[in-house]
Amino acid sequence: MRVGIVGLGIAGLRAAALLEAAGAEVSLFEARDRVGGRLHTVDKGYGVVYEAGGEWIDADHHRVLALLHEFNLGPDPRVGWPKRLCWRGKQTREDLMWNDALEDDLRVEAAAREMCRDLRQPPWENTAFEDLDNRRLGDFLREHTQSERGLWWVMAKYRSDEGEDPDRVGLLGWLVGFMHYLGREGEEMSAFRIPGGAGALCQQMALALGAEPNLNSPLRRVRQGPDGVELIFEHGKEKVDAVILTLPPPALERVVFEPALSTAKRCAIEASEMGRVVKICWQFREAWWRGDEWSGSMQCDGPIQQTWDGSMGTAPILSAYVCGDDSVIWQNERNPVLAGLREVTRYWPEAQELYVRGWMHDWTRDPYAMGGFAHLAPGYVLEHMKHIAPPDGRIHFAGEHTASWVGFIEGALESAERVVGEIVN
Ligand SMILES: Cc1cc2nc3c(=O)[nH]c(=O)nc-3n(C[C@H](O)[C@H](O)[C@H](O)COP(=O)(O)OP(=O)(O)OC[C@H]3O[C@@H](n4cnc5c(N)ncnc54)[C@H](O)[C@@H]3O)c2cc1C
Repeated sequence: MRVGIVGLGIAGLRAAALLEAAGAEVSLFEARDRVGGRLHTVDKGYGVVYEAGGEWIDADHHRVLALLHEFNLGPDPRVGWPKRLCWRGKQTREDLMWNDALEDDLRVEAAAREMCRDLRQPPWENTAFEDLDNRRLGDFLREHTQSERGLWWVMAKYRSDEGEDPDRVGLLGWLVGFMHYLGREGEEMSAFRIPGGAGALCQQMALALGAEPNLNSPLRRVRQGPDGVELIFEHGKEKVDAVILTLPPPALERVVFEPALSTAKRCAIEASEMGRVVKICWQFREAWWRGDEWSGSMQCDGPIQQTWDGSMGTAPILSAYVCGDDSVIWQNERNPVLAGLREVTRYWPEAQELYVRGWMHDWTRDPYAMGGFAHLAPGYVLEHMKHIAPPDGRIHFAGEHTASWVGFIEGALESAERVVGEIVN
């Protein structure tokens, strides 16, 4: 059996490895000139290395940890915690959180835990909770907080996790994701990074395959017939017995299907929303943020939102990760790197003097992602979620947006396991 895999992010690469192990022949296609997709480690030479895309692994992301083990890589424990918090000119640390914000945080968590008790998996079976599906996470956070500072903190915290403002996230969708966190003890979030970079891991995964990836091959059209699937790329065609498409939903929307996909599938793809995410990374002569009881991690109420020490090589890099409405500010800036640096300088004047150069990665305008990662928008779970993953004949769908760990590297791997099961069984 010959299976085409289109999209060589980590979901496609993992699916290829599992299929080869099961004895299938695979043909690999990727629109970009590299594998890895939204895992992209940038190496500018001279030790200037940073993650432009996905970066952090939670301690209970068991598939990612097992994959690292397979490649003889031990996960890199995070540095730079606890975060510094800056709100209206006042500063503290996450472990010394202001009491009002801490109480609000605990109140939100307790309310979410309580609501999760009545929910079940799979998420779309919670038909009795249509009201939750139509509500926004932002409203829930407003309802369960009492202080302005607490509201700011929980909004910032969950925006970072969802990759989008809580007002664009559905409450039921968020709660079914929160169910993953119920057994956590507190230190699991962003516990590790991938040693050498997530991009290097993807390259190693590609090298370990028997099949060679066909890069620079954007898929335009999929023609499904009784005896196979024809894949039509910008340059050339390929006939396979079955295909796995791992394209993020907005990229999938641009592909033409003959015959058309079912209405339910098309609506699910259209309704699957991606967060607006940018990363800005600055190189400095010295890591002025190290020492002094701090290591670069900050959450602030300014439009730079969040920073951390992003250095993956010897050169000091400070990374900012901005989601939602604030990301649009940087997209519209003529020089977002310098404008962002000015913002960092408001908190730390030494940044200006030690600055060398910087880069912005705008995932919302990336032609093959068109967003950071998926979140479950209001109304999505009950109407659309069950239609996003199932196959349409010989066409199978994978990628983080089709998983229960929506948005995460873990979810991309989960989707690869599911889709290979569909084909092999
Ligand atoms: C800034 C940022 C920060 C993140 N932080 C984290 C984090 O800390 N932890 C975490 O777990 N996750 C994080 N994520 C999410 C994580 O990166 C993704 O969930 C994961 O990489 C998705 O993998 P995937 O294989 O499903 O999709 P992708 O990596 O997007 O792979 C899909 C592939 O399809 C290709 N493609 C698209 N269109 C076509 C076409 N027409 N023809 C052929 N190929 C096509 C793309 O080029 C891409 O290579 C982050 C993402 C971003 C952008």
